[in-house]
Amino acid sequence: MQIFTTIPGLRTFLADYRHDRSIALVPTMGALHKGHASLIRRAVAEAEITVVSIFVNPLQFAPTEDFSRYPRSLDSDRQLCESLGVAAIFAPSAETLGIGDSEEITAVIPPISLTSGLCGAFRPGHFQGVATIVTRLFNIIAPTIAYFGEKDAQQLAIIRQLVRDLNLAIEIRACATVRETSGLAVSSRNQYLSATEREKATIIVKSLQLALESFRLGERQREKLLAIVQKNLDRVAEFRCQYLDLVHPQSLQPIEQIETDGLLAIAGLIGQTRLIDNIILRQRRAVIAIDGPAGAGKSTVTRLVAEKLGLTYLDTGAMYRAVTWLVVNSGLDLSAEAAIAELLSLAKIAIIPADSPENVTIVKINGQDVTLEIRSPAITAQVSRIAAQKAVRQQLVTLQREMGMSGGIVVEGRDIGTNVFPEAELKIFLTATPEERARRRLKDLEAQGNGGISLAELTQEIEKRDYLDSNRSLAPLRKAADAIEVNSDHLSIAEVTEKITALYHQGEENQWRSL
Ligand code: AMP
Repeated sequence: MQIFTTIPGLRTFLADYRHDRSIALVPTMGALHKGHASLIRRAVAEAEITVVSIFVNPLQFAPTEDFSRYPRSLDSDRQLCESLGVAAIFAPSAETLGIGDSEEITAVIPPISLTSGLCGAFRPGHFQGVATIVTRLFNIIAPTIAYFGEKDAQQLAIIRQLVRDLNLAIEIRACATVRETSGLAVSSRNQYLSATEREKATIIVKSLQLALESFRLGERQREKLLAIVQKNLDRVAEFRCQYLDLVHPQSLQPIEQIETDGLLAIAGLIGQTRLIDNIILRQRRAVIAIDGPAGAGKSTVTRLVAEKLGLTYLDTGAMYRAVTWLVVNSGLDLSAEAAIAELLSLAKIAIIPADSPENVTIVKINGQDVTLEIRSPAITAQVSRIAAQKAVRQQLVTLQREMGMSGGIVVEGRDIGTNVFPEAELKIFLTATPEERARRRLKDLEAQGNGGISLAELTQEIEKRDYLDSNRSLAPLRKAADAIEVNSDHLSIAEVTEKITALYHQGEENQWRSL
């Protein structure tokens, strides 16, 4: 692992990796704890190169706040990063980031609607300071993915908006809040708390928990949910609440009633220490992401799981076929990537999922039904060339996310759990040894009267394909850190399906999200 304090050092280091590899950034203020570690672990698992930035950003502290006494521990931070597989730490000075003494800097001002409520009302200028520095880090590092904690939910919403508004090619991934055994959200500022204060501080999470229980029993009204929380907070006089609110997680505007999801957020003081916490109250059916190597039985299992659970099978393959049909019919050369990106951006693709696996997914392009045409041998022969194009992939991933937003889908691929639906409720990594997959393939081939290849040759072919799939620059095969591995070596299709549906029912019972 390398440590850089200058921009030229870091940029030169990254230049070697930049070409077609994923670079993750985990921005932090140091004093790393297990909350940060969870972000870093995910980054290391999901990207090829992980950079952790450590910078106590003076722009996000008001003069009355704890900038000078904010904990700093570069030595132990370095050890933690190294042990987690981080490639580089970026620990610049304020001068390096161009915010030395001068007040005359170019600032990034997020929309007032996002900064005026919640923490913004108590920390004027805070989110402008965050946005200004995060933008600089994004420009210096140019990561492909950046990781942020849900604990700072307002920050997360603002960064997502910033990336959209500034057209940055960065994917923002959110990580669940890590907690102490007591439930207290882990924070660098917890160091300021005495033992008694630490105990008192758990009132925040306990109150959120009560709201969650009530939500699970069907309560959706703002007044009712807030009253439950407020009443409980009132039991600890030492907690001086700054705000308690129920807002939409993206717009951060107060909501009267939860339709699909709501962000219940609290901030307040215990002694001199300011603490924040929140919970997303979400009502949606689960997303099941099934990833794994080719030949592990993913597509059959995915269709069966959808059928058994009454969920929608999201046929991503049909989307790539649709684009291939569009390109072939437009007369464009299949290698004209820029023209294809433009064509696709202007096209209207409608994917109408089948109600049951026997029904085929209906596909319409610019209003024309192409459900049958996209299955023709001519399209089948070309689809992999189209699927290998970055712009196509990005646009279709956006479409898949839109379709999956309200849940209730099962979807398979190589990077569904890590990239397409990193927030999927259930992630399965379905695998089987190359030998077993070769045996299955040989059986299929022989049944079709196409024997003549040895088991050893097939195994080798499969191993080669696995290697290529895991190392391809676009959508490499990855097991998500929170995926459950299912090895189908000694299991029938029915048994694998049974296993996944059991995991789903178990998750449903526990309502997926707990504090
Ligand atoms: P900070 O160093 O406080 O600026 O935090 C750096 C990143 O870590 C931010 O994206 C935070 O949201 C995230 N983070 C801080 N505490 C936690 C936690 N307990 N669980 C998950 N993420 C966290």
